[in-house]
Formats: sequence, structure tokens, C-alpha cells
Amino acid sequence: MTKNDRILALRKAAEAMARGDFSTDIPSGDDEIGHLGKALKDLSAYLKKQSERSHSLYQIMVECNLNLHLVDVLNHIYESFREHLPYDRICLALLDSSNTKLKLHWVRAEYDLVALNIGHVLPVASAELQTIIDGNGIQVINDLSVYLEKHAESQLVKAILKEGIYACLVCPLVIDGKPIGFVFFSSRKKNIYNQSHIDLPLQIASQLSVIIEKTQLYRGIKLNKQLMAQKKSLQRRVTHDALTGLFNRSAIFDILHKQIQRAKRGGFGLTVIMIDIDRFKTINDTYGHLAGDTVLCEIAERLTKSARSHEYIGRYGGEEFLAIISPYDREGAAKAAERFRQAVANQTIPADDVQIPVTISIGVAISTESQTLVADTLLRRADEALYAAKHKGRNRVEIVEVTTD
Ligand code: GH3
Ligand code: MG
Ligand code: MG
Repeated sequence: MTKNDRILALRKAAEAMARGDFSTDIPSGDDEIGHLGKALKDLSAYLKKQSERSHSLYQIMVECNLNLHLVDVLNHIYESFREHLPYDRICLALLDSSNTKLKLHWVRAEYDLVALNIGHVLPVASAELQTIIDGNGIQVINDLSVYLEKHAESQLVKAILKEGIYACLVCPLVIDGKPIGFVFFSSRKKNIYNQSHIDLPLQIASQLSVIIEKTQLYRGIKLNKQLMAQKKSLQRRVTHDALTGLFNRSAIFDILHKQIQRAKRGGFGLTVIMIDIDRFKTINDTYGHLAGDTVLCEIAERLTKSARSHEYIGRYGGEEFLAIISPYDREGAAKAAERFRQAVANQTIPADDVQIPVTISIGVAISTESQTLVADTLLRRADEALYAAKHKGRNRVEIVEVTTD
């Protein structure tokens, strides 16, 4: 190769490096051009490493943003940075809420773990913790046996020494200025870490903090959702009947009182409909109590389905239901009651391979005057009408208009 060719080769290699291509052959030798080639080769190796490192960090960042599982990101970290940072073991430990215990969340090592495994909980002396937190973000311990002489109380260091680990980089994980745990890069070789090893673990730790924060936030949201669902189900239990899912007795009474107030304010009428299953005792006696329950539920469903959106239905007693309808005139009330009656009587109810014919009797009390809008009065008059419906042969509707005269 002529001198010119060698210089041209070096120039091409430098241009390729500028494009991020480190694969070009760089000639070296014993003269000045050769030494320049050697220096360029070293530079190329260094830049290649830096570029790989940036790429790995970028990958970890992308994974964090993709909300990948923390464990997957940690495994990726373990596999990606060996070229740039010496370690035989990486461990992630999180502090409990009182900051007095460290729980090993994840650990991976080049050797079979002996002392510290996932789930292991260690007490942390607050002084030791403070030292690490105050230690400008990262602490380098190049000889753990020396460290233990000064911090004889450190359970953590004792345990890690048992595994044959002698040097350690400790990076705090921080969220909102508060330490939440640590990531440990450890080696079995003493004095292996120097200033050049500090930057990378710090960047890794900051990415890990982001992903942990996301998971905790996610957990928080999830927990919140669960609490909301529990609250809803509790609220429902307070106001709804467990068997039929209708409003329970106290809820339908509440509704009655509120509807009375509304009717008074609006100057319109209100209808109270009392519904009782006909000969329900016989149904229980003939088909069994469970079949009786099925009948109750089916009737509740049919009443609900046939009710209009402004009509409220509740389970008033064992086999009695109450519907509250507002506003309604006599004709409208009669139609609604008839709708309910037919919803039950028109079709038998299937229970345990049998078809049970069921009917209901209905007593309706209508009030169109403000003075007669009284809950007790309306309930009593509806009950009287129901009694009349039973007396007149059942499966029918009886209506009374409650007036002042
Ligand atoms: P009537 O036509 O006069 O109303 O006759 P009835 O047999 O329906 O009336 P009665 O009041 O004598 O009987 C009501 C029955 O309802 C008695 C009770 O065992 C039954 N019952 C009440 N609550 C439940 C329940 O939750 N499940 C079941 N299966 N039966 C119930
Ligand atoms: Mg009854
Ligand atoms: Mg009955």
C-alpha cells in the first residue's frame, strides 16, 4: 500500500465512523501514519461502545414508555450493559412504607444465589440509608469487607459478602424526591469500579424510577377502581333487595316520600300500586321454596321490564311489591296496573322443569289532591284495594281514588 493509499484508507474510516459505521478496516503500522491508524482504531472502538451504550439506554427508555413489565426491563438491562459496566449481579430492592426495610424485588447473577433471593426482607439502619441517599446519588463501595468494618450493623452487606460479592455500586431510585429503593450493581472483584462507571447506572436508575412510578400509579388507579366498585356494590346492598334486585323496603319508602314532595311541589297526582302474589304459599308448598324464589325473581323481572322509566318498583315484603307512579290520572294508573298484571299472568313461569302458572292481585291508590298526598294514607288505601282484589277472586286490579271528602 502506498503512503497515499494508507492516508486515504484512514480518511475513509474516519468518514465511516462519522456516519456511525465502525466496521471499516483501519491499517496500522510502525511509522507515524501507522500510529495514527492505531489511535483511530482505539477511537473507533471507544465510539462504538458509546454508540452501543446509547442505543441500549434508548431501548430501555422505549421499553419504559411502552409500559413493559419491570421484570422484562430489568432482564434487558442485565443483558445489555455488560460491555459497559462490570457486574456479576444486579439487584433491585424496594423500601417499605416506613423506610426501615428493604425487600428484594428482583435479582439476577452470574452464579447461583446463596444468601439473598427475591422476596428477602432486610432491615436497613437509617444511618446507612441516609449515607447512601446523601452520597450524591450513587455510592461506590469497592471493598465491602472494609465497609463492613465501619458499618458492622449492616445486615445487607453481611448477606451480600456471603455471596462472594466484594464491590458494589448503589444507586438510589427516587420518585418525587423521595427514595423508594435501590438498584445494586455488584461484582466479585474488589476495586473494580471507578469514576467512569457512575454515569450509566445513574441513567439506568432514573429510567427504572420512571417505570416503577408508572406501575405504582397504575396500581393506585387499579386500586381506586376496585374501591369504587366495592363502594358501588355496598351502596347497592343498602338500597336493593338481594334476591330480586329490586329496591328494598326502605329504599322504596324513601322514593315514595320523595315523590310525594315532588308531586306537592309540582301540583300533580301520585299513584301507589300494591302487588301481592296469589296463593304463593301453595306455590311454595307444591313446588318447593327454591322454586318459590325463582317465581319471585321472575315476577320482579317482569314487573321491571314492563315498568316505564319513571315508574319505581320495590320489594315491599316477602311476596309483596310496591310500585310508585307519578304523575298519573285514573285511566293511566289503571293501564299501568293492568300492564303489570298481564306481564305475570300471560305466561307461566319455568322453574325446575315445570311451568308454574302464577297470577298477582293489585290494589291501586290514586291521589290527585295535595292534602291526600300522605304516605301512610296512600299505603293503607292501596292495601285495602288489594284486599278487595283478593276478595273478588284474585288476578285482578282494584282502584281507589283518595279524596278529602
Ligand atoms: P294470597 O293469595 O291470599 O296472597 O295467598 P298467599 O298464599 O300468597 O298468602 P300468604 O300470606 O298466606 O303466604 C305468603 C307466602 O309467601 C308465605 C311465605 O312462606 C311466602 N314467602 C314470603 N317470602 C318468601 C320468599 O322470599 N321466598 C319464598 N319462596 N317464599 C316466601
Ligand atoms: Mg301477602
Ligand atoms: Mg300472596
